Amino acid sequence: MKSIRGRSYELKPNNVQRTHFVKCAGIARFAWNWALEERQRLYREKEGDERFTNANKQHRRLNALKKTDFPWMYEISKCVPQEALRNLDNAYLLYGKARKAGRKARLPKFKKKGKARDAFTFSTGAIRAEGNHVVLPRIGRVRVKEHARKDGRILRATVSRVADRWFVSFLVEQDILDSAPPSGPPIGVDLGVSIMATLSDGRVFGNPRPLQLRLRKIRRLTQELHRRRRGSNNRKKTINRLARAYRRTVNIRRDALHKATTQLAKNHGEIVIEDLDVQGLIRNRHIARAISDVGLGEFRRQIEYKCRWCRSHLTVAPRFYPSTKRCSSCGHIMDDMPLSERTYKCESCGLVLDRDLNAALNLVAVSSTETLNACRDLASTAPARVSRAGSLKQEMNATISHGIGG
Ligand SMILES: [Zn+2]
Repeated sequence: MKSIRGRSYELKPNNVQRTHFVKCAGIARFAWNWALEERQRLYREKEGDERFTNANKQHRRLNALKKTDFPWMYEISKCVPQEALRNLDNAYLLYGKARKAGRKARLPKFKKKGKARDAFTFSTGAIRAEGNHVVLPRIGRVRVKEHARKDGRILRATVSRVADRWFVSFLVEQDILDSAPPSGPPIGVDLGVSIMATLSDGRVFGNPRPLQLRLRKIRRLTQELHRRRRGSNNRKKTINRLARAYRRTVNIRRDALHKATTQLAKNHGEIVIEDLDVQGLIRNRHIARAISDVGLGEFRRQIEYKCRWCRSHLTVAPRFYPSTKRCSSCGHIMDDMPLSERTYKCESCGLVLDRDLNAALNLVAVSSTETLNACRDLASTAPARVSRAGSLKQEMNATISHGIGG
């Protein structure tokens, strides 16, 4: 079995390489804008099928023009403009799909220098990761800040700039070894806001809440940015500082999530999670930041692919399974489990347990087939409002109204 994964590293380009990167980014932007202009013109002026074009046709036209009109394109790898045209193709494709599905969509726009993220992609030529450096077409060896792993076949490399730093991300194809699934016992995972995940064996993964801790700094820098004169050096400095603060928060969050999901997928034969409607929750702008800050959607994405790699089984509890209100010991379901109540006290059997741990235990109870059927019955009899997603939403609002959630 093959798997495709992404790997990214920060680059340490020298001055010559930096200049070459800027040139590549400029040519990618130029190719995008040139192709977009042509597409818009064809759409305006032609009729029928001639109103539309694609990346292949545009690439042939651009190649013909290269010799006469754009000879400076020969200074860089030929994939750079080609990939820019493909990106534009994709952007149109996504636009079409979104329109078809009835979602809001925006047509691709022209790229302005210094506005959008500078990025360009290589898909052919010498692309390698070799420990303390990577090899890129026409540029050669570029040093990296961390160790660039050699395993797998690199399909594409995208170089991008964030503030004043350059990064490369590889799309790597790897063989998955047919090893046995992890032998550890099934585990239930209850996701939350103040604590990222509570496990049914009593362990917890804390939530670094990086964005919230850095919110004040980011807010201060944003205000500073508004004071700076447009085009001034100080404004550029503030933009860089702001980008760095954001990047740091993203890194802390991703790191915490990776640690938790790897730990789980590597050590447990079956993992049970709740079925959160993350997209639905994010649509509520009051809780969107709290949700993105924990990265609940990202947790789900990571645990899914890591379970595939490790051959451990991922079970998603039914959407309306009352993991919060159910007693993990006797199965009694409470009418109400207010958020302020951090401890579960069973009215029926007298169990007293931490709220999140009780929920995690309820989730792990879904793991075997036998109980799964029992839970299906439960889920069908439970009123729709007992949705766990709903209770999380409540929890979010409570956190926010207490001023912790920003
Ligand atoms: Zn009970």
